[in-house]
Amino acid sequence: MSKVQYSKELPIYRDVDVLVVGAGPAGIGAAICAARNGAKTLVFDSAGCVGGQATNGLVGPFMTVYDAKSEKQIIKGIFEEIVDRMIEMGGAIHPSEVRSGSSRAGFYLIGHDHVGPFDHEALKIVASDMILEAGAELLLHTQFVDVLMEDDKIAGVIIANKNGMSVIRAKIIIDCTGDADVAARSGVKYELGRVEDGNMQPATLFFRVCNVDTERLTAHIKEHEHEIRPFYGPFSWLIREKQEEWGDVPRAEVCLFESPEPGEYRMNVTRILDIDGTKAEDLTRAELEGLKQAHKVFNFMKKYAVGFENAKFMGTASTIGIRETRHIEGLYKLTVDDVKNCRVPEDTIAVMATNMDTHNKNDPGGTYYTLENGPYFGVPYPCLVAKGVNNLLVAGRAISADAMAGAAIRMIPCCLVFGQAAGTAAAHAIKDNKLPAEVDVKKLRETLKEQGAYLGD
Ligand SMILES: Cc1cc2nc3c(=O)[nH]c(=O)nc-3n(C[C@H](O)[C@H](O)[C@H](O)COP(=O)(O)OP(=O)(O)OC[C@H]3O[C@@H](n4cnc5c(N)ncnc54)[C@H](O)[C@@H]3O)c2cc1C
Repeated sequence: MSKVQYSKELPIYRDVDVLVVGAGPAGIGAAICAARNGAKTLVFDSAGCVGGQATNGLVGPFMTVYDAKSEKQIIKGIFEEIVDRMIEMGGAIHPSEVRSGSSRAGFYLIGHDHVGPFDHEALKIVASDMILEAGAELLLHTQFVDVLMEDDKIAGVIIANKNGMSVIRAKIIIDCTGDADVAARSGVKYELGRVEDGNMQPATLFFRVCNVDTERLTAHIKEHEHEIRPFYGPFSWLIREKQEEWGDVPRAEVCLFESPEPGEYRMNVTRILDIDGTKAEDLTRAELEGLKQAHKVFNFMKKYAVGFENAKFMGTASTIGIRETRHIEGLYKLTVDDVKNCRVPEDTIAVMATNMDTHNKNDPGGTYYTLENGPYFGVPYPCLVAKGVNNLLVAGRAISADAMAGAAIRMIPCCLVFGQAAGTAAAHAIKDNKLPAEVDVKKLRETLKEQGAYLGD
């Protein structure tokens, strides 16, 4: 590629203590908690609303927030606050009320006990209200462009929006872009997908359908329950029977979750392989292929699936769903061993029992691992601290983890509580005049617990 030189004087848009880049689940948690704990905070996002994949991606439900035995809720804190407010406005069902095998748990028999169905509009409203109530500034339609480095510190973040380009200076930056864009631009090392071969989980364009007859659908699925593989969704029998018409959509089951609104389903069915979500050309290909697959799958379901006879297509997500890209190099890398052995280290800032859901492209059903060796695993604070750039934290699916561990920690409730931990840690660092790596983790854990988090027994 040939190159040109570009140089320009840029205005300083703001000087803040904590800058949160990206307002998806991690950014929501980070912005609320940094501001609540006293830091002057600004959060911006390229989209026109907050929520990331949990709103614009139409992703849902909230994956399980219970322990591996489904006995106790272990993800709480900012997640619980947000859900409670969504429930108040009729926009969510509490995970305690949703059991495996039901329409709201996608008819899954394993790994989906106590998931949380929610309405995306409710999340948009509740999360942006909570960001503003906490005292953080929110800026939408604003793209992260680049970093200004001073030695091993980010001195400023270049943004672009309708106003043009400008700079935000911050003492601490929390990268919540999902793809670790800030970390990558500032020189933090990362693994892209699986380290052995660079494979990344497939992309999916969600779509929504209403007017589904849940009673008939449920009865039909019950009749075929013996055909559902342990960790997978229903309708493999229909796809097998009508393979020719199903065609080349590389999925062997239909993953569908009923929303709080009866008869409305979010469809997690399309699958686009070999997409690198850090490349614009791949994202474009995924959007176009996803759109084709979504309409094809809907037409197929309407024609053949019991309960879908009067279904209506409500639209596709406004962005392709990217499950995996960069895993940053942090001060500690969470490993598949840590997850499988349910380790809960002393510096844990969140516990979870989400399963390793790999969507293995070599198996159109995906490959799925549940926890066998304990009730949950802990994610230590150093997974959030970027190595090599001293005023940068990373929260969300890009934290320091190998690809397999990353397949477990990428769920929405996990990302919300990583945001809570990162935002609180950043505020502590500002108060104590320390760098993120020097934060007193004992004190951080105490504050997190005071603010509703559960960090294990
Ligand atoms: C297809 C699919 C199905 C899933 N299913 C489930 C499920 O059923 N349940 C569940 O709990 N989880 C599920 N997940 C996982 C979950 O949705 C994501 O892992 C989670 O949303 C990640 O949160 P995040 O905050 O790290 O990133 P995102 O949700 O990706 O948010 C990142 C935010 O940063 C913004 N951003 C990114 N780059 C820039 C930039 N350069 N400048 C400005 N802003 C930027 C984006 O606009 C976005 O708002 C699924 C994910 C996918 C893709």
